[in-house]
Amino acid sequence: MRPVRVTCGPMIDLHMHTTASDGRSTPSQLVEEVVALGITTMAVTDHDTTAAWDEVSAAAAAAGVACLPGIEITAVDHGRDVHMLGYCFDRNYPELVTFLTTQREDRERRLREIGDRLERLGVPVDLEDAMADAARSAGRAMGRPMAAAALVKAGHVANIKEAFDRYLGEGRPAFIERQGAEPAEVVALVTRAGGVTSMAHPGKTQKDHLIPALIEAGLPAIEVYHPEHDTADTARYRHMADTFNLLVTGGSDYHGVGSGRSQGLGQFHLPAADFARLAERTGWPIPV
Ligand code: AMP
Ligand code: ZN
Ligand code: FE
Ligand code: FE
Repeated sequence: MRPVRVTCGPMIDLHMHTTASDGRSTPSQLVEEVVALGITTMAVTDHDTTAAWDEVSAAAAAAGVACLPGIEITAVDHGRDVHMLGYCFDRNYPELVTFLTTQREDRERRLREIGDRLERLGVPVDLEDAMADAARSAGRAMGRPMAAAALVKAGHVANIKEAFDRYLGEGRPAFIERQGAEPAEVVALVTRAGGVTSMAHPGKTQKDHLIPALIEAGLPAIEVYHPEHDTADTARYRHMADTFNLLVTGGSDYHGVGSGRSQGLGQFHLPAADFARLAERTGWPIPV
């Protein structure tokens, strides 16, 4: 167990994943970890699914943690992924429900294609069991980390990172380009569903040239605080937010222990003043 951290004031983390997508913690486990670290306000932002919301919000309410509904939607620009965070939207908005179902079906199709590609590359993996297992949980979003785990299991690579570096990352031999909505379409859809969109980790996405047009299209926020932003990135996006009067979001992008990804839960948080502005826009009650 991690040590309990005593904090004064709010500790706000608006970016984390569960087993509903590619996180390693179940929704309830995630809330336990959040509580142990003294995080006071959280948002779970699984890839293309809201399946964890009910369990997370019930566990958070029981633990006295403020919990915002969230998501991380994968948009596409010129074959490259652009992650868009959404907060406080109506999860039952029919057009969004249809859109997310299609996204998840496309994830499944892509994963099968990745499996075929790996076979042709001479590093066959067994994805069937993992995919059948995932398909048993309603709304579960599959993804490349499942192929990465299968590569590790088959002994082709030593760890998840090596699986991405050698086969699954952008430009690598088993990378399959995505087809899907453009970032501006995602902004419009989340807005129609009553929510706020924030461009996720722009310093990692490396598509700043899209931002002015996205602001024109109604993008209300950008993610400034993220583990893959260095000090210069954080300062640049902070300045951009101030210049264009954007709301600011931030969080750890926690994927859980053993994910090969961010494990800095409790280390990246959003300043309370930024959260207050976001909460005002979403109509969300500000935690005391
Ligand atoms: P997908 O959603 O199928 O495109 O898979 C993308 C996910 O894979 C990301 O959200 C990360 O969780 C994970 N991922 C991407 N690159 C790496 C990497 N180099 N090491 C470990 N996990 C990664
Ligand atoms: Zn992820
Ligand atoms: Fe992301
Ligand atoms: Fe994320």
